[in-house]
Amino acid sequence: MRYLLLLSLGLGGQQWTFPTIPAEKVTERLRRIERGENAARFGTLGTLFTEAGCTGPALEPQMAKGSKVPNLVCTLPGEPEGKWILVTAHFDKVRAGAGAIDNWSGASLLPSLYQSLRAVEGRRHTFLFIGFTDEEAGLVGARAWVKANQKTALKNVRAVINIDSVASGPHPLYVWASKADPELTQLALQMAGALKIPLEGMNADQVGTTDAAPFRAKKVPVIDFHSLNNQTWLWLHSIDDQLSKIDVGAYQSAYRFLAAYLKFVDEKLDAPDRSVTGALK
Ligand SMILES: [Zn+2]
Repeated sequence: MRYLLLLSLGLGGQQWTFPTIPAEKVTERLRRIERGENAARFGTLGTLFTEAGCTGPALEPQMAKGSKVPNLVCTLPGEPEGKWILVTAHFDKVRAGAGAIDNWSGASLLPSLYQSLRAVEGRRHTFLFIGFTDEEAGLVGARAWVKANQKTALKNVRAVINIDSVASGPHPLYVWASKADPELTQLALQMAGALKIPLEGMNADQVGTTDAAPFRAKKVPVIDFHSLNNQTWLWLHSIDDQLSKIDVGAYQSAYRFLAAYLKFVDEKLDAPDRSVTGALK
């Protein structure tokens, strides 16, 4: 973990810290995009997770009914009786374009977020970082996960934090406010304010739906982060969806925000003491 940097900010009148990995490392994972078949993108995501330290039984391909390419699940355990938080992003793309915005921008963040959160001691929740397959074919991977787990693990899921199409412009992140859980939104606004990262609500109902939808339908609290506005959503599913369209500074801001947010959500959800604590131990 020699790569870790400790960032510090003022939160609730106190000093609050969270670990990150260097920006160059985060960006390198974005640049290692695989433009070919979805199976190859699955393979690259697995390599990135392995390099980030998620290996062995912690990294598990899970077959998704209806898809030839599995979901990829990296588990970061918390307290044995703790609830689960899912951090999700689809890795598949449509045929046109490189699928850089939609959604290598999200999928390539998962290994980096895993790597920094792993350095936080005393995590209460178990985090599952899930690369979903075949979102573009109708949320196939997410629907399959919900269906396979609805009588078992789904009841443990406290929140789903979905990342789809970020950093497609200088504005790093929007929250899909109309679909988001109010508590998760409140925590996001508080963290964005502390980090001085602009975060606004932007509903993307005209673009369609996301992998959070099957969870939301089961009453699981969800939040979707994206960066789409009236201009950038036109690039999706087209030859314009290329790495060159990604704003690297915004991508790094998105990483920094999400690294802090995951630690914050872990501390705050259902916490007996809801005052801000959270020094890195
Ligand atoms: Zn997408």
